[in-house]
Amino acid sequence: MRVILASSNKGKIKEIKKLLESSEVIPYREILGDIEIAETGSTFKENALIKAREIYERVKNDPRFKEAVIISDDSGITVPALGNVPGIYSARFAKEGATDKENLNKLIKMLKSAGLKRSRAYYTAAVAIVGEFGEYTVHGWMWGDVIDEPRGERGFGYDPMFIPLGYSKTLGELDDSVKEKISHRSKAFKNAMRVLKTVGASFER
Ligand code: IMP
Repeated sequence: MRVILASSNKGKIKEIKKLLESSEVIPYREILGDIEIAETGSTFKENALIKAREIYERVKNDPRFKEAVIISDDSGITVPALGNVPGIYSARFAKEGATDKENLNKLIKMLKSAGLKRSRAYYTAAVAIVGEFGEYTVHGWMWGDVIDEPRGERGFGYDPMFIPLGYSKTLGELDDSVKEKISHRSKAFKNAMRVLKTVGASFER
């Protein structure tokens, strides 16, 4: 089964390719070029569907991708003690088109301003699966704490300031194999596999 990934985030693409190791995963920009998809939804689920539907509409009549499955991931981090920021705005928290570093620094600044050295937080991933069989969404979550300083270089986004529950190091410091086991994304993709098996889409190449 060919998967067209409705994402251009390098960190996500790397993780998703690993999670779907036995499939051919093609990031949409390799087929459609540099199109921007506006995330106008008010939930992770809505934004995941917007991205997957847009790509499906553009490729569904192309014979090369007739049986392809479109998969998107809309994700982010939420800090309840700071009023649930940044949530669905995680990628554009500091400003539209912000870098991961700018977004992380803004969250650290907010923690410091609130006098919090450490605070409970969680990542959410909503994964949409769209194809000729219909539309489905699944979710995965990872709980932990955010801290007021970045530690380590692994992962991407907010990982250097996130300590998963049960660990003492940040995702920036922990081996990639740890994140692969416990992340919001890997949990959501496990659920996505169940959906794909149920609707009859095979992930064998
Ligand atoms: P999206 O591409 O619009 O879904 O935005 C996702 C944003 O959420 C990323 O740019 C990161 O800032 C953040 N994010 C999502 N998943 C992760 C993760 O696994 N680690 C770190 N940051 C993440």
